[in-house]
Amino acid sequence: MEGDGYVVLLALLEGEIDQNEYMYLNNIELRYVRLPSYVYGLIYKHKDIFLIAINRSLSQEKKKKTILHELAHFELKHYDKEVFEFKIEDLEDEADKYVNFLIGKE
Ligand SMILES: [Zn+2]
Repeated sequence: MEGDGYVVLLALLEGEIDQNEYMYLNNIELRYVRLPSYVYGLIYKHKDIFLIAINRSLSQEKKKKTILHELAHFELKHYDKEVFEFKIEDLEDEADKYVNFLIGKE
């Protein structure tokens, strides 16, 4: 599915496109940064670009999961504020439920 640059997360999860492609088509930039250890990642909007910052000290596995988590927020359009979400350790929210739902569909 591809209309005005919008590509669904399901295509990424199903391997139809790769992560870089997904980011590029949705105008998202990914950065690995230093964050407090309990903050896994966050997503925010700067002008027309969506930025995802991932805690660079996470394991590869946790980085992957956190990216998916933040992308779920993006896809659920949780971006009415500048910084629209933080992924905090042990905190499950709507984005996690959405990812689990998509994975469950496979
Ligand atoms: Zn979240």
